Amino acid sequence: MHQRPTPGEILAIALILLPLIAALPRLRDGYSSEWSQALISLGRISGILGLAMMLVTAALSVRLPLLDACFGGLPRMWRLHRRLGFGAFMLILLHVLLLAFAALPHSLSMAVALLFPPLAEWLTWAGWLALVTLVVFLAPTFQFFGPIHYQNWKRLHLLSVPTLALALLHTLPPLASPWPWWLLATLAALALLWRKGLSPWLARKPYRVTEVSSLAPDVVEITLLPERRPLRHKAGQFVYLSPLDDGLATGRGEEHPYTLSSAPGAPELKLGIKALGDASRALQSVALGSRVLLEGPYGAFFEQAAPGRKRLWLGGGIGITPFVAAARALAADPGKNEEVVLCYLANRPERAYYLEELADIAARHPSLRLVPHYFSERGPLELDFLEQHCPDFRERELLICGPPPMIHHLLRLLAEAGVPRHHIHTEAFDFL
Ligand SMILES: Cc1cc2nc3c(=O)[nH]c(=O)nc-3n(C[C@H](O)[C@H](O)[C@H](O)COP(=O)(O)OP(=O)(O)OC[C@H]3O[C@@H](n4cnc5c(N)ncnc54)[C@H](O)[C@@H]3O)c2cc1C
Repeated sequence: MHQRPTPGEILAIALILLPLIAALPRLRDGYSSEWSQALISLGRISGILGLAMMLVTAALSVRLPLLDACFGGLPRMWRLHRRLGFGAFMLILLHVLLLAFAALPHSLSMAVALLFPPLAEWLTWAGWLALVTLVVFLAPTFQFFGPIHYQNWKRLHLLSVPTLALALLHTLPPLASPWPWWLLATLAALALLWRKGLSPWLARKPYRVTEVSSLAPDVVEITLLPERRPLRHKAGQFVYLSPLDDGLATGRGEEHPYTLSSAPGAPELKLGIKALGDASRALQSVALGSRVLLEGPYGAFFEQAAPGRKRLWLGGGIGITPFVAAARALAADPGKNEEVVLCYLANRPERAYYLEELADIAARHPSLRLVPHYFSERGPLELDFLEQHCPDFRERELLICGPPPMIHHLLRLLAEAGVPRHHIHTEAFDFL
């Protein structure tokens, strides 16, 4: 069984169906042979659903603290964004194919003329242009030509604006009841306006770097003090950080997501940052006293788990940061009664960041038990290790954070062990 749908996901599906429901009475108008009539109706349905999905996908690109919680957190919301984008692309291809096949029983030249009419029929050509721009920015998203640089991929996404405008132009004129389209187009436009125009000015809060401490080679923890009103966060949430240090080799002003490792309510924020690419490497030597902008907090990692049940946390590598925040929250609340096993998956003991602090919290707090697992000593985590150190793991809520290959390995292992999928909650440090 998969994860239960969130209110946000249900609303997104309802919004996608709205234009189709409004168009249903007109879908069977004006065609002769039964076969081509059915194909034309199906072609129109796939076109309507495809465009509705594209508009909802654009609306889901909005980033608003709290709103993302209705979708189970920003990473899950963006997974929905990505799946709907892919679904929209497939439906729009199907739209073109079905309409062409509908004309084929009459003659091949009729099918070609339907797809490529004279230039004066600009509504059809607007549709073609929308499809071309859609392919240009979706092909890299689905890595048809191999991995793409994140910032270039983000820039390419700006093509979604002309794509949506052309697709709406192609769809709107023949429609009798265009109001659902206006509704979806307004939501999409507001989301894009907020994201690209307003949020850089209104949603980012200034902080100063007050400490940079080394946790291991290529891993630091940065401490930040607010210049104005501080952010309030829960354990497991992350922020978008844009450093403004002029001395940075690269990544100045670029925004990247990092999980807050400080306990909620702590006067200063902390971020554990591993050098995984250019920008995160440059951050290893960010100047003390320099400014950063923070946007967020986002995510609902711990909130996805059913309350009141015992927990098993599985953190791998730098994916330990949400669990560090939660462990620090436990340390700040000695009376808190939770039953947590933290299984820390590290390559080798020297790469187990925060280990001493976590062991210290576990020694003092009765709720937390720490179990390190080292790849260098035992290979990938296997079921016998879990059976030995957390025999009741099947009855717990499982929270997993780490690199995507580790998450896939654990999901397969836990499925084999019969753990229901809705008791497993994951966070990958990767949006692409
Ligand atoms: C929800 C979340 C929480 C994270 N928390 C932490 C953390 O606590 N500590 C930590 O060290 N790292 C964390 N990361 C990973 C961190 O965001 C990337 O390592 C960083 O953005 C890499 O940027 P780069 O330019 O150094 O590397 P690049 O070579 O540009 O990117 C390496 C990979 O990081 C991802 N990435 C790059 N830029 C972004 C971006 N702006 N948004 C989303 N993904 C991006 C891409 O998948 C890319 O393949 C988190 C990522 C996510 C999605």
